[in-house]
Amino acid sequence: MNYNLENKKVLITGSSGGIGKSLCEKYLNANCNLLFTATSKEKIINLKNLYGNDHGYYHLDFSQTNHLKENLNLLSSENKDINILINNAGTTSDNLFLRMKEEQWKSVIDINLNSNYYILKSILPNMIKNRTGVIIGITSVVALSGNPGQANYAASKSAMISMYKSIALEVAQRNIRINLIAPGFIQTPMTEKLNNDQIKGMMDKIPMKKLGEPDDVSNLALFLSSNQSSYITGQTFHINGGMLMV
Ligand code: NAP
Repeated sequence: MNYNLENKKVLITGSSGGIGKSLCEKYLNANCNLLFTATSKEKIINLKNLYGNDHGYYHLDFSQTNHLKENLNLLSSENKDINILINNAGTTSDNLFLRMKEEQWKSVIDINLNSNYYILKSILPNMIKNRTGVIIGITSVVALSGNPGQANYAASKSAMISMYKSIALEVAQRNIRINLIAPGFIQTPMTEKLNNDQIKGMMDKIPMKKLGEPDDVSNLALFLSSNQSSYITGQTFHINGGMLMV
């Protein structure tokens, strides 16, 4: 489907992950100009080798606040015309709550939640000046369902939903739409970490009895970026094979 996204400038965080790669490929196929991010200089080089010199590449590690603020300043000063931001990067550090170390709690909240504060603060002012913009956050089914062993992750992802809804209300009149996608279990390096018992437990909960594909997420992101969804803001869309129906 052609969504008429030619020449839109799209920032996709976590470009080299499972869902990130699918997002990047979809927006490249739609003839967008991309800004890629990765957590190390080596990964930036890999991305450049893959996608070439016509796009922008930024080293952003969300766990390092000062580095993040500095590099976001550079990114937003070099790119005042970002049309679409997809905040896709995220991490897990699972443990039952009583065993969860403070460091596990803080790192997941920093990477998955606090990063949104710095990223949106740096990108949104230019979108407001340009009177146009689309922001998509990648949250998770566990933001609504909870998940044993993921109190940190679930908290970060559910806070993201209320944060994005609040900002969507603040900027709705400025022609800026903000939505979220909440995937269930998608086949990526993040879910490859799960052991057989965890996978079986998960399959038992999925009516469609299969994992989702990264493209299931990026297909919806494309639609939410386009004018075909011009009256949709502040919403969370679930892609989970029926695992949670809300
Ligand atoms: P993934 O393959 O593990 O990719 C995660 C991405 O996040 C990577 O590109 C990684 O960047 C980036 N990232 C990790 N730590 C970071 C940090 N400190 N600073 C900046 N970026 C960081 O996972 P995925 O499945 O594609 O996940 C993408 C998003 O979907 C995440 O937000 C995840 O929570 C969400 N999600 C996934 C599932 C699922 O089942 N897979 C379900 C629900 C929600 P580098 O490669 O540069 O390290």
